[in-house]
Amino acid sequence: MDNNKLAQLLFPHINVEMEEYLEKIYPKRDLPEGAYVTRFAPSPTGFIHIGGLFTALVNERLAHQSGGKIFLRIEDTDKKREQEDGINEIITGLAAFGINFDEGKTLDGTEKGDYGPYVQSHRAEIYQSFCKSLVKKGFAYPCFCTEEDLTEIRKVQEEKKVLPGYHTEYAKCRNLSYEEIEENIKAGKPYVVRLKSPGKIGGRVKYKDVVKGDIEMDENVADIVLLKTDGIPTYHFAHACDDTLMGTTHVVRSDEWVPSVNIHLQLFYVLGLKAPKYCHISPIMKEDNGGKRKLSKRKDPEAAVSYFTEEGYPKEAVLEYLLTLANSQYEDWRKQNKTADLHDYKFAMKNMSKSGALFDLVKLNNVSGEVISRFPAEKLYEYVLEWANEFDKEFAEKLTANKDKAVTFFGVDRSGNKPRKDITQWKGVAKYMDYIFSDEFECEAIENISADDQKAVLNKYATVFDLNHTKDEWFAGMKSICEELGFTPDVKAFKADPTAFKGHVGDISTIIRVALTGRKNTPDLYSIMAILGADEIKARFNKYIAAL
Ligand code: GLU
Repeated sequence: MDNNKLAQLLFPHINVEMEEYLEKIYPKRDLPEGAYVTRFAPSPTGFIHIGGLFTALVNERLAHQSGGKIFLRIEDTDKKREQEDGINEIITGLAAFGINFDEGKTLDGTEKGDYGPYVQSHRAEIYQSFCKSLVKKGFAYPCFCTEEDLTEIRKVQEEKKVLPGYHTEYAKCRNLSYEEIEENIKAGKPYVVRLKSPGKIGGRVKYKDVVKGDIEMDENVADIVLLKTDGIPTYHFAHACDDTLMGTTHVVRSDEWVPSVNIHLQLFYVLGLKAPKYCHISPIMKEDNGGKRKLSKRKDPEAAVSYFTEEGYPKEAVLEYLLTLANSQYEDWRKQNKTADLHDYKFAMKNMSKSGALFDLVKLNNVSGEVISRFPAEKLYEYVLEWANEFDKEFAEKLTANKDKAVTFFGVDRSGNKPRKDITQWKGVAKYMDYIFSDEFECEAIENISADDQKAVLNKYATVFDLNHTKDEWFAGMKSICEELGFTPDVKAFKADPTAFKGHVGDISTIIRVALTGRKNTPDLYSIMAILGADEIKARFNKYIAAL
């Protein structure tokens, strides 16, 4: 068989040789020694799984911390999975978590970067050129088998109990003559182009995975499809072509691709190209009934990245949490570098967990509470407002109309060594601070003090408080009313003989706190009173007394 003639028969319209793409059209990248070139390569479904964000983050960190590049490549060779607007959703969805690409499609519909097109369906001629070169080298051939033919082959293989697939003597179209092929094409029969696999049954391949270590598996023997009937490549073939031309140094992807590495290495081999380094990362898992399972799009709302946006987790918290999942050393680093930007952490691939990291919302909330506690009040205000503008308009209006109060409130207990950590996400903040904006709140019941005593406390306290007091004077004010009302300023004395008093100074502050905020636990009451102002304080005391 004259392979050149066959190549010309199959690809008469392809005039650009593979070498030209490799040498001229896609020149080598000019990057510093050791720079990583990585990519995130989703299909344009628009849906971003938390595992996808995790993968994107790892790719982004590896590229940017090494002075390299990350690009976004849209893998739309499977048209069934495409969604209108899917690409923009991916770009905005990831940007919301601070993942921005150096190259690839942009929101205005254009592309940036010199290694495009970055959408696979726009690269058909490139794949066909690479495929043409394989045909010339005798590593690819057209296959006219129909679905029925393939079913038949499978049946025979099942009966004989041999390895299933299109391979060796079962690969019916492997040895068609030029004339047969020409005749089929003239007759308009659809065909795919298959790899003529050089693999041997029983052969083994080894490679070193950057995350998983040494991996050994059977050599690929299947004549896998390179180009489908419409001339569009399969994932495997597109991966080899694109990651070569785009200069990817490290393929960081989900470990569901590990079993395909034998195919990929073989493709690089037949193309005469160097394979990138593979870094296969484990899926994010969830504890379920004492066992572990993958986070499921169907069962777990937190599998979708949009969940974190809707719940109002700041991007810093989600990223910080994902970094704790990615590298167990991260938390120690954070303890030593409390205020450092998370991007200062030197991410190490070798420290990634080989089995799946466990996703835990309680842990996320702890991390988020920590991260938020380090935000200055102004930033917290901006973040909450931004979230509320999208998800809670009424709250957004209150925040806007009362900006000063809100910022002051967010600043309470924020400085010092032990800032409060009770805000973990923006959803819930409206409730958390409702008393700042209005007196329409439910009050927690105070069971240990009678209604009459509570009244007496508030009536008395209304006559002594003064917003010009220092914090010490403010507290002294509460103590000063204790004795005449049958309470004690001395908590120890109360504990020694509780029957001797109606309560202690702590109970007095609880009564005041509940009257003003509806709850027993709030940020610093002295600061809250300053925000409310004297008139509002008195009005709330009266309202509370009236309701007792
Ligand atoms: N489109 C593939 C996927 O979504 C990309 C895998 C890769 O990163 O190579 O699984």
